[in-house]
Amino acid sequence: MLRLPIFSYLQPKTLQDALAMKRDAGPDGMFVAGGTDLYPNMKRRHQEPKTVISLMGIPELGRLDGRIVGPCVTLSQLSDSPTVRQSHPAIATAARLVSTPLLRNMGTLGGNLCLDTRCNYYNQSYEWRKSIDFCMKKDGHICWVAAVSSSDVAPVMVAIGAEYRLVGRQGERVVPAGRFYHNDGINYLTKQTDEILVDVRLPAANGWDAVYHKLRRRGSFDFPVLGVAAWVQWNGNTVSDARIVLGGVASYPQEIPEAAAALKGAPLSDDSMAAAAEAAYRPSKPMDNTDFDLSWRKQMTRVYVKRALDELRARH
Ligand SMILES: Cc1cc2nc3c(=O)[nH]c(=O)nc-3n(C[C@H](O)[C@H](O)[C@H](O)COP(=O)(O)OP(=O)(O)OC[C@H]3O[C@@H](n4cnc5c(N)ncnc54)[C@H](O)[C@@H]3O)c2cc1C
Repeated sequence: MLRLPIFSYLQPKTLQDALAMKRDAGPDGMFVAGGTDLYPNMKRRHQEPKTVISLMGIPELGRLDGRIVGPCVTLSQLSDSPTVRQSHPAIATAARLVSTPLLRNMGTLGGNLCLDTRCNYYNQSYEWRKSIDFCMKKDGHICWVAAVSSSDVAPVMVAIGAEYRLVGRQGERVVPAGRFYHNDGINYLTKQTDEILVDVRLPAANGWDAVYHKLRRRGSFDFPVLGVAAWVQWNGNTVSDARIVLGGVASYPQEIPEAAAALKGAPLSDDSMAAAAEAAYRPSKPMDNTDFDLSWRKQMTRVYVKRALDELRARH
């Protein structure tokens, strides 16, 4: 059995207290929300904070209030919310596709958006990792394969153009979701370690639509090996703007402008959707670090982009 290391657990009631506790703890302090990612990682010694600061007791972080969503809203609350399902159904879908009901009852939106990148050579016990002399992401010097972004909700946030509000010692800033992620398996967030994601700002439902499709081995449980978030802005029957974002193929949610370009300025037709699927297939370069055969996962990019666009066309 893997055991948690010894650590202090703090439960601030305000944002200011949480920031002060992090300042006092220094680099040995980490924030936690549902803990469904951090605690397994601590058991495997990926992260070894001496102080863990829970964000779950801070009331303002739990709000689900129209277009401003707190990071401590659980994935179950998000996927079950009639308001979110009606105004931003792609978010509700992506949240519902995360793992199992137990994980969704504990796991939060903020934890999902800040999820550590994953790799077959990294998400292993300390002893397993030691047997291969570790890897560059933790304890070693070799990169076996770069770690991959495995969040289901992040690609949707990038596709719909959501914004994240961050508060840290230097003050407050708002960043577009697309600029929150780095294509770097180690430094995968542009967030500073002392910054707290305090809310997610969703764009008004204003003539656009978005969907999320997920490929995984077991439909009831697994991380995505490919996620496709597709967003289109309609002008009548014409696509006036579009974004296609892939999850599970790079260390960040990867936006594919070439695929969007194939859709703009025309109705969604079989030809434009095939062109977008082809355009997404080319830069989609899944890494050999998760489940399934790598070349098959790449082939599935075409299929999943086409399916996502088919759904958007069918419900327009
Ligand atoms: C078996 C299993 C299956 C899973 N399957 C999936 C899956 O299919 N899809 C998927 O997307 N995820 C999956 N996950 C990962 C995880 O459960 C979810 O992503 C979940 O939403 C993480 O949320 P959390 O609140 O538990 O995060 P935590 O573990 O609490 O935190 C994760 C990270 O985010 C940081 N963090 C959390 N909140 C904030 C905040 N407000 N501000 C700053 N930093 C913050 C923490 O410091 C930590 O680094 C799975 C996990 C397990 C164990």
